[in-house]
Amino acid sequence: MGRFSAYKLPLKSMSIGTHEFEYVLDNEFFKNIEGEDVQKGKVKVHLTVKRTPASFELNFDLEGVVQIPCDRCLDDMDHEVNTHETLYVKFGSEYSEESDNVVIIPENDGELNIAWFLYEFVALTIPLKHVHPAGKCNKSMSAKLRKHAARSLDDEGEEGDETVYDDEDEVPGEGGETDPRWDELKKIIDNN
Ligand SMILES: [Zn+2]
Repeated sequence: MGRFSAYKLPLKSMSIGTHEFEYVLDNEFFKNIEGEDVQKGKVKVHLTVKRTPASFELNFDLEGVVQIPCDRCLDDMDHEVNTHETLYVKFGSEYSEESDNVVIIPENDGELNIAWFLYEFVALTIPLKHVHPAGKCNKSMSAKLRKHAARSLDDEGEEGDETVYDDEDEVPGEGGETDPRWDELKKIIDNN
């Protein structure tokens, strides 16, 4: 984590009171941190550290835009980040995360590197399903993916998977051949 030394907070040496910090998470930050969800973006961070005799309250405001692949066409899409997070830090004997927002750090170390926290705060804002607004997808790519999805549906004879189809266009597996079971049924009916 050497290249993230700028994100190391010297908590132990901070005086009681309020301290402010600014960071910019840029393409290089996202590339270096090697998180799965975000590889590009620009997010401004404003951090306020409030030290009391017993603990530290860290308030983060993150604002910016990251580029993440669209679920439907796989092209990059902009995702706006505008979030607030709070982290409480206390000194203890060894590093541990007591809960989502309470961290214990060893007192003799007295430092906390917040690089990964910042990455996670950004990643947490990404919804499970994220697609371009209607009509903004890469047309050729989504058409290819649709054909591929239709083919694999035919191959496996499965329906109801998670594939997302583009608005108005054709639904795979419809039209063309009839279900052989219907032909059988029709024969039975015709014979009676
Ligand atoms: Zn898209």
